[in-house]
Amino acid sequence: MDTLQEGRAESDSAAPAMEPKALRSLIEKYSGNTPRYTSYPTAVEFSELETSDWRAALNHEVSRADKVFRPSLYLHLPFCATLCYFCACNKKIAHDDSQVAPYIKSLSSELRAYRELCGDFPLEQLHWGGGTPNFFSPSASEDLFDICARSFATFAPDADVSVEIDPRTISVQHLETYKKLGFNRVSLGVQDFNPQVQEAINRIQAYAQTRETIDAARELGFSSINFDLIYGLPLQTESSFRETLQRVIELMPERIALYGYAHVTWKKKVQKTLQRHDLPTPQERISLFLMALKELTDAGYEYIGMDHFALAHDSLSEARAAGTLKRNFMGYSTHQGTSVIGCGVSSISSCDSMLAQNSTDLEEYMARALRQGMVTQRGLGRSPEDQLRGELIENILCVGEIDIPEFEKKWGIQFSEKFSSELQALQPLEDDHLVSVSDRKILVSAPGRLFMRNIASVFDSYLAKHSAGSTFSQSV
Ligand code: SF4
Repeated sequence: MDTLQEGRAESDSAAPAMEPKALRSLIEKYSGNTPRYTSYPTAVEFSELETSDWRAALNHEVSRADKVFRPSLYLHLPFCATLCYFCACNKKIAHDDSQVAPYIKSLSSELRAYRELCGDFPLEQLHWGGGTPNFFSPSASEDLFDICARSFATFAPDADVSVEIDPRTISVQHLETYKKLGFNRVSLGVQDFNPQVQEAINRIQAYAQTRETIDAARELGFSSINFDLIYGLPLQTESSFRETLQRVIELMPERIALYGYAHVTWKKKVQKTLQRHDLPTPQERISLFLMALKELTDAGYEYIGMDHFALAHDSLSEARAAGTLKRNFMGYSTHQGTSVIGCGVSSISSCDSMLAQNSTDLEEYMARALRQGMVTQRGLGRSPEDQLRGELIENILCVGEIDIPEFEKKWGIQFSEKFSSELQALQPLEDDHLVSVSDRKILVSAPGRLFMRNIASVFDSYLAKHSAGSTFSQSV
């Protein structure tokens, strides 16, 4: 647990030494189902929303005199060649590429609508996620990138341009194309190297495929490579997952996202297939997580927060150290104050005053996008109260502290009055040395960074109405 003591300077001074046994008992105490807060309010609060409302909110955001509009663009590319049984993403298993060209046409129509509204601004981030973006051939990827590039003025000088790739199906031509187009980051789906686990989750991926992909990406000059890993999968044991981690560490990707498997069978029926095998018990999940934490931090990775680790020279670690980290639907980000334009089936867009999600049905999305450009289906307006609480929650998750006088000045509130019940609710976490509260500051301790979701959720005014057990995923 040594590295967990290496938080920001002030966090360090507030952090007690934390033995693995003590940490385990705290995880047992606080493990439960809490939101991941890629937005506040979270997507479970969404209800029907008209496209015209989203258009008006975005129009207002673009023309604000008090804030420069800084767009990030997310494209959801939903097609996959095979089905991984653990997957909770919006995806379509496709046996050929016959839907790729029509899908690009729909995306093009949607992007044209955004170009009319906010195309004069440079992009801070472009991310292609899925599904499997490399299901699109190199030439289809070029067409799509060209449409994205033509829809906005240009890229900001330090723009993140990233794509998720599947080492089982990626080709060198794909990687060369991405590099030529200007992508600077790639994220590899890895999950677990153990053959039995791979068989159970229906994702057979030889170690050599992953190694060759990372070698090729490095040779081409990609500056930051991410691996997605999952703990809590069927048949995983501490020793098998340690082996996976050791092989990951040999390859040293700059970033690692270590997700806890979310068994949400009420949303994703295919996950029931995994129940043929025993899933790790809650106790075993904690052991897997603690072991992974130790292996990764011992190997030189910094714990960024939530599920993310990065090497010290990576921009994510630098932003965390500088207190400039942000969070949006794409996860942690080094870019400040951006609005997210989400295009493609099920994508979520956000600006200060609204969250808006596209149709989640592929056929419906494609038909509506072609016809009318934007295809909002659900979402919500963010009231000033939501924005205030959202900023609090984001600061806890990204910076680990709230400067109370500054916050009071910005929002015109008396903190202790407005949040008197929340400050009381923080008391047990304070007693456990996970957070400290004074008149001037709320400060998450170094071990407390493992419990950021719990600390942040104290300020979530929607949470009480949900039965957490059936709405959110487990925090560990
Ligand atoms: S994990 Fe990735 S490749 Fe597998 S089904 Fe989900 S989106 Fe497709």
